[in-house]
Amino acid sequence: MFSKLHLLGALALSLTCLAQTELIRDFKGGLAKLPQEKLSTEVFDQKSPALKLDSSGVKSGQFVGHTFYVYQEAAQALRGKTIEFRIKTKHVAGNAALGGTFRVATSPGNELRVTRSFSLNTPVGDQFQEQSATFTVPNLDNIAHVNVQFGFRQQGEEQNLWIIDEPQFRYAENSSSVQLPTDILGLSALLDKEPLVLVEDGKVKFSIVIPAAADPIAKLAAEELQLHCQLAVGTEIPIRQEADGQEISGPAIHVGGTMLAQKFALQPVNLPPESWLIARNGENIILTGGDTPGATYNQATSTRGVATGTLYAVYEFLERTFGVRWYWPGKYGTVVPPAANVKVTRLLQTGTPSYSTRGFLYSIPRDPEISTAEFTRWYRRNRVGSAHGNPLANHSFNAWPKKFGASHPEYFALQVDGRRKTDEVAGGHVCLSNPEVLKETIREKLEYFEKNPGAGFASVMPGDSFGLYRCICEDCQKPLQPERAPAGTASNLVWGFVNKVALGVAEKMPDRYITCCAYGDYRQRPDFPLASNVAVTLCYSAQPRSDQISKNKWRAMLDEWRQTGAALYIWEYWNNSRYSRGVYGAPAVFPRHLQEFMRLDQGQVRGRAMELSNIDGDGVSFSYWTDWIYDALNVYVVSHLMNDINCDVEKLLDEYYPAFYGPAAVPMRQFHDELELAWTRGNYSDGWNWETCWVKTYPPEFVDRMMALLRQSVELCAGQEPYLKRAQKTLAGYLPFERNSFLFREKKSQTNAPKITVPQGTAKPLLDGRPDEEAWQKAAVIGNFCDSYNIYEQKAGTEMRFLVAEGTLFVAVSATIPPERNEIKWADDLGERDSL
Ligand SMILES: [Zn+2]
Repeated sequence: MFSKLHLLGALALSLTCLAQTELIRDFKGGLAKLPQEKLSTEVFDQKSPALKLDSSGVKSGQFVGHTFYVYQEAAQALRGKTIEFRIKTKHVAGNAALGGTFRVATSPGNELRVTRSFSLNTPVGDQFQEQSATFTVPNLDNIAHVNVQFGFRQQGEEQNLWIIDEPQFRYAENSSSVQLPTDILGLSALLDKEPLVLVEDGKVKFSIVIPAAADPIAKLAAEELQLHCQLAVGTEIPIRQEADGQEISGPAIHVGGTMLAQKFALQPVNLPPESWLIARNGENIILTGGDTPGATYNQATSTRGVATGTLYAVYEFLERTFGVRWYWPGKYGTVVPPAANVKVTRLLQTGTPSYSTRGFLYSIPRDPEISTAEFTRWYRRNRVGSAHGNPLANHSFNAWPKKFGASHPEYFALQVDGRRKTDEVAGGHVCLSNPEVLKETIREKLEYFEKNPGAGFASVMPGDSFGLYRCICEDCQKPLQPERAPAGTASNLVWGFVNKVALGVAEKMPDRYITCCAYGDYRQRPDFPLASNVAVTLCYSAQPRSDQISKNKWRAMLDEWRQTGAALYIWEYWNNSRYSRGVYGAPAVFPRHLQEFMRLDQGQVRGRAMELSNIDGDGVSFSYWTDWIYDALNVYVVSHLMNDINCDVEKLLDEYYPAFYGPAAVPMRQFHDELELAWTRGNYSDGWNWETCWVKTYPPEFVDRMMALLRQSVELCAGQEPYLKRAQKTLAGYLPFERNSFLFREKKSQTNAPKITVPQGTAKPLLDGRPDEEAWQKAAVIGNFCDSYNIYEQKAGTEMRFLVAEGTLFVAVSATIPPERNEIKWADDLGERDSL
């Protein structure tokens, strides 16, 4: 059964390769005109002859191959277009790998202008396999020919024999597999020997150019460039828009698909999503990148859903050339060094984010000095976002009880009492072996993708109960593996269903993913491979520490899931270390640890999202990011790591302290470094609790010394804005650290272990949730509870009643809602997390 599923997955995948894009030229007819010794008339795909690439009689080092040409008008028509060389290959003998080179030459002089090489897979088996390579033809005048030189290089004596058939040029269906065409720019950049002056003695020497048909991304990118350059130089910089067909000559910074960018086939639609490019060409600088066509201004400024490579090119340029940094949101957070003289020499930089999804949850705090828009813009400037929507999974059947509870009770999980789970408690439990449920789920997901063309992912995940409400029908029981309890009992059942939905969706929409969390009793991998369009959200809840226990745990989870072949994403909980067992207000996430942790999954995890702390220093939970000052530097560093996993974190930190805190750079650096060192040296064998935290890791004298460094920083910044404001906000942000340390040093933890005697009642009380009837009057009542440390003030009262009647112990609990909670949520209403 499992190998069959796998085959279906492979079939779905190959359907994407067979897309019938527009044909440019079919070379099959021309093959017959070749000399007989180059042809194979016995072995061919559909029609004889095929082309034979045979090394018999060829000397070592010689190229065995053929060149496929498109000439003159036909070649000129390809300028600026992305084309595909498609071919069927059959491997007969030898070890030589097939490959080729796209080449473009212009007249007069048949001058070779651009080359781009590629290599192909050596297929397993003896069947013909369709393969392809793509290339964007630069927007040059007088193209004489575009060709592909294709074949292999003979090495040694061994015979190599390939049969190739059905060679074609087609227009590429999409540009996502196209590489950044930097070669021609790179070559022309060699000519730029003189520096290009952008700012001289405080005078601006350039304008900003946007294309005639500038879209919202290009406009936003140009505005951001203008704003920050003006802050750096202090004078206004014009944005000029090209008129149709009229190039604007430099010195200029071109943003997006200007006519100059088009000359090099660098318009945003040609580039891979979210990739970016900075290049100098003579008097001009080109800033462009892969953008989602048709994106709105609101989408471009938000952090989710559209590719904004052009915007990233501008941010990279501002960081690299003007030294701009976005350490905090809002006006206090941006660092723009004054720029009296700015010049560049050669400039050719490109990049694509290391993780395709870069996100944070509970990412917007309430800070009266900083607006939500400023926070969102801060994430955007640090290139937080994704091009294809949200890959994180969540319980997906929550709406089904309302939708199908009455009409199709058989869709729902069979319970031990013989009823179907058609109610909404714990959010939608269905019978995963009912074929109609599968069909309806596939239909629902296809409908969702049709309505949301930008969405790359849809969740398929059972309700939240850790197996409690799982269907007990015979077919749902069969795949269960009790021997893998607790984390793998239902892995084959749940992932088998997810896989079938993914395959069903792939038949119609092969590029959309079905996503589910590795969670509850399906946290472990299934016994079978998963379709290539299954995405797995790995929930990692330990503190991101770099100690060996945490590292091994994360490594084991990755190694296990990598074997499924699914696309892996991580949901990482930064918040957990902020609220377990009396550690409110304690710093527990640090830049170097994060880098260590991310190195473990480098190249294996496609995206990551960090859940920031929504619990404040008093242990009160909110629906927003609390105490954001603690993690602002972590967010900044991780944003840079997510964009470039190899970025130099030490360099980021070296820049940070003097640039951000000016006169307080030294004590601020000491504060952060000592905290991180104390955390690193901590012994967590007893877990992360109040004692580990406030006695061992951050003892009172340490906390006092750290807070003194912050107070000293404020003094050093006196009268110097914006440093003073930053130092003051930092000090205020860490006050919970000091406050909680004092709680534990003054009161010390006490355990509260009351003894009660339970009276005999005369009658059994009714179990109706109301402890107010006659029978309960005789019960023992206890209240005035404290938490397990007897430290924090209790926000909500709890009373318990105990009663023995007719040989049975009855317990009633009355709990009040904390005053800051104006509503109570039960599990069946909850979308993202369960809380009370
Ligand atoms: Zn069932």
